Amino acid sequence: MLEEGESPYRGSQLAEWICRLGARTFDDMSSLPATLRTRLTQTYGIGRSKIATKKQSKDRIIKLLLEMSDGTKIETVGLPYTDRVSCCLSTQVGCPVGCIFCASGQDGFIRNLEPGEIVEQVLTVNRIVESGVIHVSSRTYRIDHVVFMGMGEPLLNYESTIKAVRLINNEMGIGPRNITISAVGIVPRILKLATEKLQVTLAVSLHAPNDNLRERLIPSMTRWSINEILNASREYIKQTGRRVTFEYCMLDKINDGVSEAKELAKILKSLNCHINLIQYNPVSNLPFNTSPQKQVRVFREILHGAGIQVTQRLQRRVDIDAACGQLRQQIYRSNLLKV
Ligand code: SF4
Repeated sequence: MLEEGESPYRGSQLAEWICRLGARTFDDMSSLPATLRTRLTQTYGIGRSKIATKKQSKDRIIKLLLEMSDGTKIETVGLPYTDRVSCCLSTQVGCPVGCIFCASGQDGFIRNLEPGEIVEQVLTVNRIVESGVIHVSSRTYRIDHVVFMGMGEPLLNYESTIKAVRLINNEMGIGPRNITISAVGIVPRILKLATEKLQVTLAVSLHAPNDNLRERLIPSMTRWSINEILNASREYIKQTGRRVTFEYCMLDKINDGVSEAKELAKILKSLNCHINLIQYNPVSNLPFNTSPQKQVRVFREILHGAGIQVTQRLQRRVDIDAACGQLRQQIYRSNLLKV
């Protein structure tokens, strides 16, 4: 608005219309002067990406495949819980990291998303939530939790991710403690994030208790050892006062054994952390399976016995190809969409 020769107050009004009230055109913005609305319409666009595919699971999770203005596709997920609604965002089209168990990692990287393309995912899912499709009780919900855990590595699209976090926080009113950034372990970016003083939750995708196994699962991430990643996490805790979460995707007979659990307990014991055991959503063309429940229980008890807080993320989305990148990959491979 300043660039347009308008007052900052007009900027606040514009942000409110777009981010809180979900305006789809400048003409909707009745509190702006008509001449300004016309001028903005001639210069800018605030349209949304097209919903190319919408799937809803039996437990009301919504998965969207959104078509960006250049024709590329990304995935966004709305997750209703009993007390909140969370939105899982993508930050890149495809992913350059290439974890060997992930659908997004298999199809390579196309481009980074702009901050607006990240934020609009929340707006699009919010519209569905507000329409009552995935609400969890008679109360009307809005998205109040956001996780940067969809396609892409958020810290490889650093500037856009930070700008999107600030917009989601300042303009949508979602508190930083309700925002989680998932990071694969790029040490300099974790350290940079620590200096932003954002108070967001950092979730580090570890997936292995030692460098050899991690190298097998995430071959592109050999530059930083687990020890360096844990030191960067320590720095994040020190700078922000926030506990770090470690994500651990449970892969049958790969990383879910008693020895891995003991090793993990040993390296994480001294950290102010929390471990999230993720049940793997099998991807049809990949040779990985979900760890059996019994194995997950044993793994969990070992960590728990070492005094580490553990939660288990449930496999709720198998019926809608909800593992990261699966919907996009499925449609891409069946040639229904050009990606
Ligand atoms: S798990 Fe995350 S970081 Fe790894 S390839 Fe998939 S999207 Fe990228």
